[in-house]
Amino acid sequence: MKLRKKIIAGNWKMNKTVGDAQELASAVKLELAECREVDVVLCPPFTALKAVGEIIDNTSIKLGAQNMHWEPDGAYTGEISASMLRDLYCHYVILGHSERRTYFGETDAIVNHKVKAALDSNLLPIVCVGETLEEREAGRTQEVIQTQVEGSLSGLAAELKQVIVAYEPIWAIGTGRTATPEMAQEAHAFIRRILTGLSDAETAETVRIQYGGSMKPGNAEELLSQPDIDGGLIGGAALDARSFVEIVRHGM
Ligand code: PEP
Repeated sequence: MKLRKKIIAGNWKMNKTVGDAQELASAVKLELAECREVDVVLCPPFTALKAVGEIIDNTSIKLGAQNMHWEPDGAYTGEISASMLRDLYCHYVILGHSERRTYFGETDAIVNHKVKAALDSNLLPIVCVGETLEEREAGRTQEVIQTQVEGSLSGLAAELKQVIVAYEPIWAIGTGRTATPEMAQEAHAFIRRILTGLSDAETAETVRIQYGGSMKPGNAEELLSQPDIDGGLIGGAALDARSFVEIVRHGM
């Protein structure tokens, strides 16, 4: 038995009306409804969660959201809580995506609140970290990743087993530039060492670390064959059923 089952998640971002989302989810379901080798997750926009959830009901494909608020309820106009996501049968939630950090000012402390709220509601958080090109070129990649991982996951120990980390170098997101498998492996192994420091080696060995950043059918196999790359968080290529399914097959 493999220690870590691969997990491939499609982050549809702010794309797809309900009808388009139903079409895409149906096409993915046709190929992956019975997929047991890899955990497959679809993360449509909030507006399409219910419709996509109905389509993938009774399959092995799971539903995820792209964000949530840390409070259980209250006067937070425009926000969505963990229990609201559970209500729609979400299993996962992406937290601290670089687009949330860049455009909506999410800090590690905010992400940490959200991670704890997600776990309290039995949602599995996919926690995103990654450096900018400027930071990489200045030789600060490890420092940046360490700050983000420790800040986003502080105060968790055994619960870390429920967390998925996504390493997403910002310069590779939506740019067509992918980290080389060696670069990604190095970052993933480093993240696992940080996780060991936050908990213990046994716990850190169970945590799945996804790679994200222009993963496509053409580069997925090499990336997914690295020892510490346990899956992918897919943006652009997840909007096309054929590409997404092909990436999942490379993870099998
Ligand atoms: C993402 O935004 O999580 C992502 C990995 O996007 P893309 O695959 O388009 O680079």
